Amino acid sequence: MIQQRPPGILYSKISNHLSYKKTESYDEAQTNTLVTHYRGILEGLGEDADREGLVKTPERVAKAMQYITAGYEMDAHAILESAKFHESYSEMVIVKDIELYSLCEHHMLPFFGKAHVAYIPNGFITGLSKIARVVDCYARRLQVQERMTHQILDAIQETLNPLGVAVVIEAQHLCMMMRGVSKQNSVTTTSAFSGEFENHVTRSEFLRLITAKLS
Ligand SMILES: [Zn+2]
Repeated sequence: MIQQRPPGILYSKISNHLSYKKTESYDEAQTNTLVTHYRGILEGLGEDADREGLVKTPERVAKAMQYITAGYEMDAHAILESAKFHESYSEMVIVKDIELYSLCEHHMLPFFGKAHVAYIPNGFITGLSKIARVVDCYARRLQVQERMTHQILDAIQETLNPLGVAVVIEAQHLCMMMRGVSKQNSVTTTSAFSGEFENHVTRSEFLRLITAKLS
């Protein structure tokens, strides 16, 4: 079978075990195509693509970009289903300060920051690391921060059917920081809420908890 968009990283499920083995693999045909284009980009920028420091750059960039966009091959629903457990716990579950690295689809420059995710279980919980994996799944694509925020929320809502989900993302965009009027310290915050988090008391409690510093 020919893969439409081969990933930089494959997560293969280990049998009888709910964990994943990480294997780096790059599709040769895709790498070669990207190498040709990145060489063209270097020349288009007025560089000598054959000078020592740049000889291997197209290949490095090709592999880096395949890794950075491997989220297209990840399935957030499958990640959550792989560790979905019956549980009567029905208090808010919060995973905060999840590191996030993505690429703005308008400039193909990185944006990076933190995601804070919460849900209120309704009979099912998932592994905490799976929440971070879901963030990764959507971050490792060409993205806009607003869409990613909703995609994370939807994946959790649809898979675990909790009483509510909350997602807050704070990120700095290099396309804002490096270009034009450099805004070095601006942070963009996006949020999405469903179910009980639409209630302002629950939402305020979540926002208080993610901003609280543990002493
Ligand atoms: Zn941008």
